[in-house]
Amino acid sequence: MTSTSFYRDTWVEVDLDCIAANVCSMIKHLSPEQKVIAVVKANGYGHGDVQVARVALESGAQYLAVAFLDEALSLRKHGIGAPILVLGASRPEDANVAAEHQISLTVYNAEWLIEASKYIKDDKKLTFHLKIDSGMGRLGVRSEQEISEIFEVIENGSHFHLEGVFTHFATADELDLSYFIKQFERFNELLSTLPVRPELVHTGNSATGLRFPEKTFNAVRLGIAMYGLTPSMEMKEIIPYPLKEAFSLHSKLVHVKKLAKGDKVSYGATYTAEVEEWVGTVPIGYADGWIRKHQGAEVLVSGVRCEIIGRVCMDQLMVRLPKKLPIGTQVTLIGTQENETISIDEVAARLETINYEVPCTINFRVPRIFLKKQSIIEVRNTILL
Ligand SMILES: *Cc1c(COP(=O)(O)O)cnc(C)c1O
Repeated sequence: MTSTSFYRDTWVEVDLDCIAANVCSMIKHLSPEQKVIAVVKANGYGHGDVQVARVALESGAQYLAVAFLDEALSLRKHGIGAPILVLGASRPEDANVAAEHQISLTVYNAEWLIEASKYIKDDKKLTFHLKIDSGMGRLGVRSEQEISEIFEVIENGSHFHLEGVFTHFATADELDLSYFIKQFERFNELLSTLPVRPELVHTGNSATGLRFPEKTFNAVRLGIAMYGLTPSMEMKEIIPYPLKEAFSLHSKLVHVKKLAKGDKVSYGATYTAEVEEWVGTVPIGYADGWIRKHQGAEVLVSGVRCEIIGRVCMDQLMVRLPKKLPIGTQVTLIGTQENETISIDEVAARLETINYEVPCTINFRVPRIFLKKQSIIEVRNTILL
């Protein structure tokens, strides 16, 4: 029994060729001196961080980014040696761990540096990127004063290497550009006050990279578009190259039965068969991230859209079938069967959320199968890891 086996009839497929194609398309879209920073936080937006990171690097990405230090350490533990930037906040006490593993942190506060310098061993240097808050209102310095305080600390010590400076846009995926332009101008203003310009200057997420590659300086932090998803529905019409959706979610019928008119299904007995009908049980539920709000939605069985009937349970749900179907018939909750596709955007619309949230919330209980050239190259079952 290894982490490459699994014993349940529910799984995610991640087509790594799609990730590779999406990275290559962005590289072609940028100018040759611009780098791609592959964003693999949150287990690669639910796809699998290590596997996405590897294929992104093979495809020409030069840098990785995650949200917090543990995610970066996990990539190191899996043998990934490429530079990694932690985008979120880290604790000053942990600066030495980051330095030892050559992980770059995001810094936006002089006191943080002073505190961190107490922990960094003399033979180590912490690499960091300075974060500028140009209007996102999340993390970052907001004034020239704060920037000069930070430079004072790094110029007077030997523990730090400033490798990059960056900002994050709040509205790069919206067609109305007024706030985006304000943020871009504010970033330029603060950037011009830096006594030295570090090697990497980056402003762009996927939306910015897709729309304004010339406004991203010398690197793009490529997240959602690497997974083949549009940064917003508004932007769908103006994506400059085809995005290839890598993620699909599947299960199987584990039980099939005929209901008589008047028979009920699932908790609360909220569903009543109007006529005699065939019903299948599918082993996926809200504890996998397939939340109760999916009651009444459609899944694909034998290439046909079938309704989820009754309440979604913790580990199972029921679907109405067009006819008697054999046990083991594949059920696709996200993805394609024959001529029908349920896209992540369709699921996001159904849940009244954004596509980002959909693969992220299909959690560790669901094993990931990684495909290249339609063949399985790796299976990751986190439960047995
Ligand atoms: C998550 C994240 C990104 C990636 O954004 P996408 O819209 O997924 O491309 C870029 N920068 C920062 C700071 C992030 O937190």
